[in-house]
Amino acid sequence: MSDLQTIELPDVGDVEEVEVIEVLIAEGDSIVPEQSLITVESDKASMEIPASITGTVTSVLVKTGDKVSKGTPILVVDAAGAPADSTADAPAETAADSTGTSPADNNSAATGMALNEAAQATSASDADESYQLVVIGAGPGGYTAAFRAADLGMNVLLIERYPNLGGVCLNVGCIPSKALLHTAQIINETQEMAEHGVTFGKPEIDINKLRGFKENVIGQLTGGLAGLAKQRKVTVAHGIAKFSGSNTLTIEDNGQQKTIGFEKAIIAAGSQSVRIPGLPYDDDRLMDSTGALELADIPKRMLIIGGGIIGLEMGCVYDALGSKVSVVELSDELMPGADRDLVRPLERRLKKRFENILLGTKVSGIEALKKGLKATFTAANGDEAGTETYDRILLAVGRSPNGNKLDAEKAGVLVDERGFISVDKQQKTNVDHIFAIGDIVGQPMLAHKATHEGKTAAEVAAGHKAWFDPLTIPSVAYTDPEVAWMGLTETDAKAQSIPYEKASFPWAASGRALSIARSEGVTKVLYDPETKRILGAGMTGPSAGELIAEAVLALEMGADIEDISLTVHPHPTLSETFNFATEVAAGTCTDIYVPKKS
Ligand code: NAD
Repeated sequence: MSDLQTIELPDVGDVEEVEVIEVLIAEGDSIVPEQSLITVESDKASMEIPASITGTVTSVLVKTGDKVSKGTPILVVDAAGAPADSTADAPAETAADSTGTSPADNNSAATGMALNEAAQATSASDADESYQLVVIGAGPGGYTAAFRAADLGMNVLLIERYPNLGGVCLNVGCIPSKALLHTAQIINETQEMAEHGVTFGKPEIDINKLRGFKENVIGQLTGGLAGLAKQRKVTVAHGIAKFSGSNTLTIEDNGQQKTIGFEKAIIAAGSQSVRIPGLPYDDDRLMDSTGALELADIPKRMLIIGGGIIGLEMGCVYDALGSKVSVVELSDELMPGADRDLVRPLERRLKKRFENILLGTKVSGIEALKKGLKATFTAANGDEAGTETYDRILLAVGRSPNGNKLDAEKAGVLVDERGFISVDKQQKTNVDHIFAIGDIVGQPMLAHKATHEGKTAAEVAAGHKAWFDPLTIPSVAYTDPEVAWMGLTETDAKAQSIPYEKASFPWAASGRALSIARSEGVTKVLYDPETKRILGAGMTGPSAGELIAEAVLALEMGADIEDISLTVHPHPTLSETFNFATEVAAGTCTDIYVPKKS
């Protein structure tokens, strides 16, 4: 069987047309990657156009003297007619590859890479280095994409502006916040044990040691990533990447600039904290989440602007460490978007612990005084709502994508006015060989979405058939108690008039929840009234972030209420509460009394 592929002239730079001055192959010739096929010349320079696959030339479509331009067919190759000792589906290796990594070194096995795209990379003939794939951004999405692509045989460059790999999540986000939230939970638990007859002394907090622990966790993970990159022969470059063409980008690092040629690119450049204009950002007492995680000190009074996930997680940390925490939230509920019955137990606990929770209110100004930051509050109706002075203020009003920082238009990639880049289910942007993943492609801005998108993009870039098509992406607030949900929410079901039924199980009836003195929790399940198929679920309580995984699996597997209610869960566990919620739905629950539906 033959596998005929047409090799086209790649983009050869600034010139429209070049002349073929030499044809270096003939019909019947066997060709291998990097073998020169033709030489073309412009008024600036001449260059050889190399092959990027193995095969047998079946026809040569150009002759000396022909004028050719980007996209002109040069020859047809039968890729299936490769000599017996060659690998027909070896990945296209660019002639300009200066990484020193041979295809064999790189365990080359990328299949199905489009020949013309591979050839296009050679257009970056003046690049300092060239790669089959560049990944911009080494957060969870970016490093996952780079590693997966390398595992599939691609020659990969991973570019990161900061010294450490891991992005916001590992360095200044998910991981350090969880290290501190764990500390907060232990502090709270030791205090609450007094009610059970065990009294601990007031905690003595060595903030330097605590910060050191957090840094150590980050160091272990980011160091581990550097090791994983090395093992996979993923080249890592540090600096700011910006596109300079459809197959080239520049990396700027400390005044040094280099040009990189690429066949395919994955944009994984993430997001940054949103700033409200007019606030005194040069005062380091006004912090974003990165500043709050630095743990410079334990402020006596702290204001958090934004009652979303970041605001409430950091509020829990500083509250446990001893700060008097206040939250000001623009909408009239905490964690807007999450179902109220799930947020309520958290809200009740925070109302007892925090100094103040101001809903339907915003901060209209902050004055930097010597004794603190004076915040002016304005109610939703525009009325002045007073002033208060705090030792520190955390601004956590959302994150915005970094799409406008990449000169993406030079590669032809469309970026909307907010900085988002649209992609299809294969993570392809409007430019076929450029992909985007993670926060930059839209909500939810979650690491676990980015990692799965990264795998999809890498697999598609390597020529595999892959799609990012999950039924749900779970959300978790690692507050105390944790709040987790997945699939359909009641808020969305009502807004979209989607029919559903709901069953809840209060943790007050769970032996395990009572034995850890956390009876405020709740587990609920939403299901289709006709088929009883699970549509959504949510949990609030300690470890809700772990428990939600079972519900995600149930949704992905198309489970119905009986599938879960008849699944034997270990007793006594918090995981049983999901089982019990489905029993409530099935009418078989004996752990609470549910009046029969008439
Ligand atoms: P968010 O969108 O979750 O919450 C921001 C909150 O600020 C909203 O409740 C909003 O109503 C409020 N707000 C906006 N403008 C305001 C103003 N002027 N005054 C007062 N309140 C205002 O954003 P976030 O908490 O900053 O988190 C950013 C992103 O990071 C989110 O996408 C989030 O999902 C993600 N994240 C996730 C986790 C996790 O999964 N555990 C943790 C941290 C961050």
